[in-house]
Amino acid sequence: MRQEGVIKFALEHERRALDAASLGDAVCQLVAWREVMALTGLVGQDPGRYEGAGYGNASLRVGRRSAGLGRRAFLITGTQTSGRRRIGVDDFAFVERYDAERNWLKSHGMTPPSSESLTHAAAYDLGPQIRCVLHAHSPILWRAARELRLPISDPSVPYGTPEMAAEVARLYRGGVFAERGVLAMGGHEDGILVFGRSPEEAGQTLVTWLARAYERACAVGV
Ligand SMILES: [Zn+2]
Repeated sequence: MRQEGVIKFALEHERRALDAASLGDAVCQLVAWREVMALTGLVGQDPGRYEGAGYGNASLRVGRRSAGLGRRAFLITGTQTSGRRRIGVDDFAFVERYDAERNWLKSHGMTPPSSESLTHAAAYDLGPQIRCVLHAHSPILWRAARELRLPISDPSVPYGTPEMAAEVARLYRGGVFAERGVLAMGGHEDGILVFGRSPEEAGQTLVTWLARAYERACAVGV
């Protein structure tokens, strides 16, 4: 967890502004759900957690639904932006191409993409129906993962690596992750990954499971 925020992949990033005219709607959908995540503590930065590193990120596919593997372009929150209370278009990167096996990614934007971009890319390669991926940090949900029967990635696999990308694919093939749209990252403290056909669907999945974790922790009358 110590290295949250450190980019571990080979990145070809061009620093130029995003096309706000064509991407504005997508940016605003992500900004809206990221705001909900910030309000619920699922994204942020806290001196008392993870040695002060920022945590959590959000992405949304843009462009053709039929785009092939490694070409499923997406918008993602920029690296080192988790602690910002408000973000705008310049805090996003546009990932154009990627190769999880080669650990390589090509993007543009005023900010380089999140250090966990390859995990998002790997999720998009699982199927065209996956349009939005949210990565949250939730101690209560992460600790309840086993009881709630969430799929859990191998604890020996660190975040942001090709091994994590392969682990996401393995769990998806297992069925439960595909069905529920949520997994707990076993080797990444408090890490939760959700996907959906839209930011709304992914956001609702995340908030629903968070509430289930709180419900379980409540246990009135036990
Ligand atoms: Zn994380």
